Amino acid sequence: MPQLLFHNCSGRNLPDYAHHEFDSMLVENGRIIKTGYQLPAHPDMTPVDLEGATILAAFADAHVHMTQTGIALSGAQLEPAASLSQVFDLLADESSRNEFVLGWGLQETRLKEHRLPTSKELDAVAPEKFVWITRQDLHSAILNTFALRWARTIIPNLSAPDGLVRGNDYYRLSYSLIDKLPEAFKRNGLELVRQHCFRNGVATIHALEGSRESAADTIAVAEFSRNSDLHTVIYNQSGDPSLPHRYGWKGMGGCLLVDGSLGTRTAALHEPYHDQPDNTGNLYLDASEIEDLLNRAHQNQLHLALHAIGDRAIDTVAATYAWACKKWGKPAIANRIEHFIMPSDKAIRQARDNAINICIQPAFDHYWGGNDGLYAQRLGNKRAARLNPFKTMLDLGIQLAAGSDSPVTAIDPIAGVAALVHHSNPEERMSLNSALALFISEPHKLAGESLIRGQLKTGYHADFVCLPEDPFKIAPSRLGNLQVKRLYIDGRCVYPR
Ligand SMILES: [Zn+2]
Ligand SMILES: [Zn+2]
Repeated sequence: MPQLLFHNCSGRNLPDYAHHEFDSMLVENGRIIKTGYQLPAHPDMTPVDLEGATILAAFADAHVHMTQTGIALSGAQLEPAASLSQVFDLLADESSRNEFVLGWGLQETRLKEHRLPTSKELDAVAPEKFVWITRQDLHSAILNTFALRWARTIIPNLSAPDGLVRGNDYYRLSYSLIDKLPEAFKRNGLELVRQHCFRNGVATIHALEGSRESAADTIAVAEFSRNSDLHTVIYNQSGDPSLPHRYGWKGMGGCLLVDGSLGTRTAALHEPYHDQPDNTGNLYLDASEIEDLLNRAHQNQLHLALHAIGDRAIDTVAATYAWACKKWGKPAIANRIEHFIMPSDKAIRQARDNAINICIQPAFDHYWGGNDGLYAQRLGNKRAARLNPFKTMLDLGIQLAAGSDSPVTAIDPIAGVAALVHHSNPEERMSLNSALALFISEPHKLAGESLIRGQLKTGYHADFVCLPEDPFKIAPSRLGNLQVKRLYIDGRCVYPR
């Protein structure tokens, strides 16, 4: 393979953005040989004109559910619909292509009729097919009669007024739906995720797949990524270390639930929910079960990732991780806590003192933060104001990286960066420099790959995005509109193809 000389660009590295500038970069076999100013071209090099673009190391998303995202990208996208008849048209179109008619992103408040479609209305679109429409919040769905018949084989006494399924029933059914869908449907979904990532400048994702019951989806993602240029760091969401062993993965767990979510009032709290005073949420794993997982991870030289959102859940995980750190010392790759939305001061100190890696979802604050947001409804303003303390943690030197939790929010690092810079709590707003780093260099640290990915320096993978404008030179309000112009992985242009 000839050497590639990328030129006519403004290249930067993070987090010391101002200090590593270059205008040309030499690449061989997918790796960077060197960067510099006006690097001389030789006849055996292939020059690539980057047309004055600002280039940064490619984006990474440290928390994606790839199988579920693929399914969500497969169906009809209903966000643009302004009326029920438009919803039905989009579904009819989908029905002409697919055996399973899935719809996503329905927001009845944006429809002219201000209501959800009913089961009967969905029957009219495709009476002989499985129709499943998920609302924007991903906590409820409307099913047609055909799909309800299937749902009742799983939950016999299912309550579904007008076909609406919500809460725990919804979660159970959405897991079963994943198993029900044909392999080819899911495989095609993974391909859609890859294309979506590339459009958004993402070269690496951490894919959190499978469940305690089945690793089939994890294995499918592993097979897919073996032949894909999207770099995928895989976590199998179970306490069983055998799969990571077989495939050589460095971590185990994932969104393995210590508690639930604030939206469904299942996140484990010390004090009750503001809007449900007899409820303090659920703790699905206690300290001794987490100890057991840590033991298994340690014995197999793996790091552990667990989902914890409420203060009671986070306290339990942080204290147990601290116990492990005292017992075995700091691990080569630190254990992770996913989300970490409502940490106590004590848990933040424990994260700092015991080298705990935190994977945050900046878009959550964008969607649910602020005085009139969902978090404030659930917790009251006082507690809600202390959620997602990104800047506080960063200033304490805690290792953070960012992800989307897709399909909960979209794989869209630029939107994530904008959410970090415009946090609903002004005291927790991050500099653009740090915000970009959380989606560029930092995810690789959580996977033990930061010596080969996340920088544009000698020896690193030539994974980079071309931006039409320097994000530091545009008005902060326009940040979210920035579009990725090109994405290169290992020196090859993967977007646009
Ligand atoms: Zn989670
Ligand atoms: Zn997740």
